[in-house]
Amino acid sequence: MIVSVASGKGGTGKTLVATSLALCLKDRERVQLLDCDVEEPDDHIFLAPVITGSEMVCIPVPEIDEKKCNFCGKCAEVCAYHGMAVFPQQVLVFPNLCHGCGACSYLCPEKAISEAGREIGVVEWGHSHSVEFAHGKLNVGEAMPTPVIRRVKEQVSRHGVAIIDVSPGTSCPVVESVRGSDFCLLVTEPTPFGLNDLTLAVETLRELGVPCGVVINRAGVGDGEVEEYCLQESIPVLLTIPLDTEIARLYSKGVTLVEGMPQWRESFLRLFERIQELVAGK
Ligand code: SF4
Ligand code: SF4
Repeated sequence: MIVSVASGKGGTGKTLVATSLALCLKDRERVQLLDCDVEEPDDHIFLAPVITGSEMVCIPVPEIDEKKCNFCGKCAEVCAYHGMAVFPQQVLVFPNLCHGCGACSYLCPEKAISEAGREIGVVEWGHSHSVEFAHGKLNVGEAMPTPVIRRVKEQVSRHGVAIIDVSPGTSCPVVESVRGSDFCLLVTEPTPFGLNDLTLAVETLRELGVPCGVVINRAGVGDGEVEEYCLQESIPVLLTIPLDTEIARLYSKGVTLVEGMPQWRESFLRLFERIQELVAGK
């Protein structure tokens, strides 16, 4: 089973939920924790995994053979990302704008374009206790997280449970991370901002056809509108975590909730059982 842990809004406690869910399941089954928040991965701070392997992530960018090129301009015309500009005697490539789609080399009538890999990030994998771990890191200044996310997701095994920590928001990285999940947990806080971003995340998941449930974190900090919304939309609230200074203190020290407060183990196990029931259509 693949369970994504997402949140429309940043800072709602996604990492807290993903890491604790992984740790409480590890004695029951094979568990993977895949941190796809590649612009700011942080699960490793809590799990302190032993990294056993890594691989660069590159995208193919065009290289022009000006001896073959007749400066027809076709490549710049087909590039949807303004990654090339053609002048009467020169072709310029802008590597940071190139998405590596390959359209220019495929359509060049003179076969004057070859491709060279440009590094945009890295994927690392390893283990922490019995949890299999992987995360991606997008290089600073790079604008395209999705190829790195795809490479992290190549680590997903269909045996056991894969928990995917998704970046906040509802844009391309979220869609790429959540796509193919059996279920998505949406972690939110009970505030107007939390509700606004939750509704956007729910709409995105509905487009993707991924069923979802909600975890309310810092319950007590705001109002009851998130619960009302969930009721209206028939979205199950699967876990409520109160606003608690001890939880915040543990988090600030890089200690997972189920390690610092083992009494939460049962709640996370029940959360997972409920997800299993929902996926099975019960
Ligand atoms: S499409 Fe090919 S031949 Fe035409 S300008 Fe681009 S590289 Fe040159
Ligand atoms: S590979 Fe795609 S994105 Fe990159 S320059 Fe060519 S057409 Fe543009």
